[in-house]
Amino acid sequence: MLPAAEPAQSAAYDVVDRAVDRAVDRAVDRAELPTGRLRPLADLAPARLAALRGLLTDIDDTLTRDGAIEPAALAALHRLADAGVPVVAITGRPAGWSEPFALAWPVAAIVAENGAVLLRRESGLLLRDFVADAPRRAADWQRLQACAQAVLAEVPGALLARDSAGRLTDIAVDHSEFTRLAPDRIEQVAALMRAHGLTATVSSIHINGWIGDHDKWSGARWAVEQALGLPFVAEEWLYLGDSTNDQRMFERMPMSVGVANIARFVPQLRSLPGWVTRAERGAGFAELATALLAARAA
Ligand SMILES: [Mg+2]
Repeated sequence: MLPAAEPAQSAAYDVVDRAVDRAVDRAVDRAELPTGRLRPLADLAPARLAALRGLLTDIDDTLTRDGAIEPAALAALHRLADAGVPVVAITGRPAGWSEPFALAWPVAAIVAENGAVLLRRESGLLLRDFVADAPRRAADWQRLQACAQAVLAEVPGALLARDSAGRLTDIAVDHSEFTRLAPDRIEQVAALMRAHGLTATVSSIHINGWIGDHDKWSGARWAVEQALGLPFVAEEWLYLGDSTNDQRMFERMPMSVGVANIARFVPQLRSLPGWVTRAERGAGFAELATALLAARAA
């Protein structure tokens, strides 16, 4: 059982509940939503949580708020690490942005750039692995920069993400981090990337484009096998996320959870997580961690 919500938080939780309910109702009305998804986290059987080997999680707006990890999420990562529950973070953020966190946070690994780069700590040193070899990355880089220039030239208001300098294998256009792009402009950017032969996804803050068929799903398998030395069995892991670039994980993972702020993206999601937390962002991650640790202790 989850602990009861603090009275001061109840009103906020109710607002979140109603927002999720309304978004789900609208999607059901359009016959776009499979039933039996987005159930309250309290409905997830503790025995299923207790049987998990570890957690896979998105970073932006799942662990963080405004680009910084929330204290509740960092404390939850420490509680999980102390209990021997490995956490692998999988993000569209650049390798350069992710590297300090791969060293500082108590995580088994961070998969950056949507499955292209694996970062992990070993004896206090950072290890960095790539899906593509160096000659391939150099050739892809030219094509990616040409596509980025086309986006800037053709899409009014489009700006490259401010974290672009740390990107080694992809390009990213800001839509909600430091600027606002309208939904039709976001779609225009993604379509232009695809016309250039890129894979494109929309995260909670950026539109990401890369060359190759790697993604968060292949990155999850890679991290579990390489960083943890385990065969990847999807049933042994639970994925947490909040937005459209988590859809493939929601679709493929037998157990997936959205943090409450996923309400913003429900109308655009084709695949939804099985369960949803009451709290948003890092507090939602902490809510899941608390439920998991309580289930293991029972
Ligand atoms: Mg996110």
